[in-house]
Amino acid sequence: MLRTANIIGSGPNGLAAAITLAQRGVAVTVYERNAQLGGACSTAEVTLPGFHHDLGSSAYPLGVASPFFRSLPLATHGLRWIEPPAPLAHPFDDGSALTLEHTLEATAAQFHAHDKTAWRSLFRSSVADWPRLVADFTKPLLRLPSHPAAMAFFGPAALLPAQLLANSVFRDDTTRALFAGCAAHSVIPLTHIASAATGIVLATAAQTTGWPVAAGGAQSITNALASYLQTLGGQIILNTDIRRLTDLPAADATLFDTSVESLMGIAGAALSPAFITRLSHFHRGPGIFKLDFALSQPIPWRSPDCARAGTVHLGGTLPEIARSEHDAFHGRRNDTPFVLLVQPSLFDPTRAPEGKHTAWAYCHVPSGSNLDRTEVIEAQIARFAPGFRDCILARRASGAEALAEWNPNLADGDVSGGAMTLSQMLFRPTARGYRTSNPRLFLCSSSTPPGGGVHGMCGHLAAQAAFKDLGAA
Ligand SMILES: Cc1cc2nc3c(=O)[nH]c(=O)nc-3n(C[C@H](O)[C@H](O)[C@H](O)COP(=O)(O)OP(=O)(O)OC[C@H]3O[C@@H](n4cnc5c(N)ncnc54)[C@H](O)[C@@H]3O)c2cc1C
Repeated sequence: MLRTANIIGSGPNGLAAAITLAQRGVAVTVYERNAQLGGACSTAEVTLPGFHHDLGSSAYPLGVASPFFRSLPLATHGLRWIEPPAPLAHPFDDGSALTLEHTLEATAAQFHAHDKTAWRSLFRSSVADWPRLVADFTKPLLRLPSHPAAMAFFGPAALLPAQLLANSVFRDDTTRALFAGCAAHSVIPLTHIASAATGIVLATAAQTTGWPVAAGGAQSITNALASYLQTLGGQIILNTDIRRLTDLPAADATLFDTSVESLMGIAGAALSPAFITRLSHFHRGPGIFKLDFALSQPIPWRSPDCARAGTVHLGGTLPEIARSEHDAFHGRRNDTPFVLLVQPSLFDPTRAPEGKHTAWAYCHVPSGSNLDRTEVIEAQIARFAPGFRDCILARRASGAEALAEWNPNLADGDVSGGAMTLSQMLFRPTARGYRTSNPRLFLCSSSTPPGGGVHGMCGHLAAQAAFKDLGAA
């Protein structure tokens, strides 16, 4: 019988697991090694006083669409989504930009004749079927879809390499680049099978439920989850780094919102050697190099469309983006990397002192790389926003080592909990998914299906698995 559970880690998946169990009457305690809750969903003043920076995630296409988050009273617990006028902008060297807009028609209206029709055809069914699609792709892939008709349209295109799909469906380099930037969130080369899936999902999200930021920052999501958990009787203990199972009180189940490496380190002796061997085959994806900026003014984009968007993709053309992602995946240095930038303070004045701004920007880098990418990231921003460097009041740079020191789930700088290749999406981290070789130990972090991103579904589904296995008397 599942009456008590320990959760190691207070990231969105740890809190989601705790809530799912507490809703079923289980007494849960969450143990967090840091002084602050939330893992890669937290906010702090790390540059100058009054500048509130999201330490990890900042834009929430999967958060606002998450079936689990949508089932919770998070607004009552202080969460308010802010939707920028445009979810995404992608600027080009001639000073123009394309945007993802909130509707399919508004996005398609920017394209020339052929691509207008092609964009509509590619996204019509996924936009129409979005709630059913979300329900399916936020679960393990190794199962029959609950909505086969919706998946029948989505599946064939999603399985293609993003580069092949963009080059065969669109004629304009700009449309191809817009799609490639969305697909690059997969952190796998755009020539890989199924790299189109992330592009289709994120572009569809933009044209339906949006890519909001959270009022007050990422921490508001965490605080809302924690506040709701506490109303269910859940306990949270900070500043407690769990290094072995004996650090925890006895419980009917323990759920790990940790990396696979930490699961092996903490639970090693309680797992079978064969299971440890399988876990050790699960591998990390590329890392990131991140910059947090305190700015004296909004970023002086050459294209005014960039100032309407919460997220801006800086990488120019599809071939440039594809090269950058290929290089990061294959351990090579790239000096014109694809840069992802979020500028939340344009839409949420609580992030910075009046008239001032915050932004973060990162690029993908080889796994474990600590090479300082400050210059190349700032050069990419200045390429589309001349004068950007003059706006920087302060910056903080984080490479693989700094990220992992703050949050060991980000080992080697990997923000997805393990490479999001097709095989690792199917077997994440093994064919057992949330389950381990020990019937009382479960993994619930982004190293399980459906993978990286703030959506809480890994934690929610891991807790359901635990309840299914242990809950019945
Ligand atoms: C820089 C960055 C930008 C990102 N941008 C986005 C974005 O814009 N949108 C989006 O949806 N996603 C984004 N992501 C990804 C997203 O944040 C993660 O996928 C998500 O937070 C994973 O949640 P989690 O609960 O699995 O793990 P985490 O958020 O990593 O939380 C794990 C927690 O467990 C704690 N912990 C680990 N080991 C132990 C231990 N032994 N004892 C006690 N505590 C422990 C850690 O300290 C941490 O608090 C980003 C991530 C990063 C790092």
